[in-house]
Amino acid sequence: MSRILILGGTTEARELATMLAQRGADATLSLAGRTATPVAMPLPTRHGGFGGIAGLVEYLRTSGTEALVDATHPYAAAMSHHAAEASALAPVKLLALRRPAWRRQEGDDWLEVGDAAEAVSALGAAPRRAFLALGRQELRPFEAAPQHRYLIRSVDPVEPPLAVPDALYVVARGPFDIAWERLLLESEAVDTIICKNSGGTATYGKIAVARALGLRVIMLRRPTLPEAESVATPEAAMEWLAHAGMLRGV
Ligand code: NAP
Repeated sequence: MSRILILGGTTEARELATMLAQRGADATLSLAGRTATPVAMPLPTRHGGFGGIAGLVEYLRTSGTEALVDATHPYAAAMSHHAAEASALAPVKLLALRRPAWRRQEGDDWLEVGDAAEAVSALGAAPRRAFLALGRQELRPFEAAPQHRYLIRSVDPVEPPLAVPDALYVVARGPFDIAWERLLLESEAVDTIICKNSGGTATYGKIAVARALGLRVIMLRRPTLPEAESVATPEAAMEWLAHAGMLRGV
């Protein structure tokens, strides 16, 4: 039994989990189970999908959850839609912890595209030196454009590697500071960055370096998320939980 369920996979979810653990709150964290070696979590943690909306409703009911905090990645839209629908059906209170998107600044050369396949088209026919900072799920479409040199960064190794002749893999977990990003992008002579608009500071370094070096950024547009009461920070989520009576007695 746990009164609060956090749907995680983000820095903010981990920060919220830490705050709740410090308060001794009755909470569980849920991870998709995408990474082989997740960072140690300060709360009881479950891994893997629930089995769609019906599975999540069942989980919420049998676990005695009273409040659901959707602190998933801004591109994890399916989970956010499931959270919105399941919370209404169970029913439980729902809060979305949403990280604001990065905004274009003067000097940014951004092209927004709908998905990885569109990003491949936007790269063009002429060989480029592209940095793919996308996460492993979005990489396969680039096999259709083997003329480019790829620098590919991911938390876990890309298995099997992409079927392209020229790719360099970097296995690393953020945050990445500006100096490190600059070194990486300059040493590999990258001319184009392909990424998501993740927001936050942990992966913003490459965007700042792209601006400084005049590199082109092809950015996958954020998916549409369901309407939900939302906050932008873990601190605000704690206030919401306190106001909702979820921290009473802890
Ligand atoms: P998704 O498309 O929203 O979710 C697909 C399914 O994964 C969900 O329907 C759910 O399965 C399960 N799932 C997702 N998040 C979960 C959680 N916190 N706890 C339990 N189950 C969860 O999300 P995705 O496939 O993970 O990722 C979509 C995009 O987001 C990718 O581009 C990825 O790079 C990015 N992203 C995701 C995460 C993450 O932790 N999920 C972190 C960083 C980036 P059921 O339907 O069976 O419940």
